Amino acid sequence: MNQMNCDISAVLFDEYQIQTRIRELGLEISNSYKNSTPVMIGILKGGFIFLADLVRSITIPVEVDFLAISSYGTKTSSSGVVKIRKDIDIDITGRDVIVVEDIVDTGLSLAYIKDYIWQHKPSSLKTCVLLDKPDAHKTDVTFDYIGYSIKNEFVVGYGLDFAEKYRNLPFIGILKEELYKC
Ligand code: 5GP
Ligand code: MG
Ligand code: MG
Repeated sequence: MNQMNCDISAVLFDEYQIQTRIRELGLEISNSYKNSTPVMIGILKGGFIFLADLVRSITIPVEVDFLAISSYGTKTSSSGVVKIRKDIDIDITGRDVIVVEDIVDTGLSLAYIKDYIWQHKPSSLKTCVLLDKPDAHKTDVTFDYIGYSIKNEFVVGYGLDFAEKYRNLPFIGILKEELYKC
């Protein structure tokens, strides 16, 4: 067992479960955009692994871009105040856009991102979220493609961090509470 695995109290989704769900999402997206080349915008940093796997499960042409945001709050919950750290490079005016996000907690980040993307006047905007915590929402944000709904617990791995660590775990797990609660 490696050092990081000891910090995990339970594995929620293993590599096989994640890849199975991503193949289903990829098929759904491929079928919905048959006559289009959507621009898939991954939200950094948490969404980088999900986007990388998702685009490889999609069988239609896509373009890839990234948006990096930061929100302020504690290490395990966000206040919803968002700043753009890296803007998109592709001109998305009149394009079909799919925002790819790792996890929705309060929903404040995704609500901000959707508003921001709409300002660029895409012809359509859909959102694909790997994990959702419905019990934690503070705004009635909606999304179009969802990997899994989970309980209101802090998870790491598969792109998701705690203080920048654990992103490289190949599975999604619950971080032991004693590591972040005083
Ligand atoms: P929201 O604005 O929906 O509250 O949260 C947005 C961001 O907070 C997510 O994109 C993610 O970066 C971070 N976040 C929320 N819940 C979790 C979690 O359980 N684990 C990790 N690692 N990050 C989370
Ligand atoms: Mg995120
Ligand atoms: Mg984070």
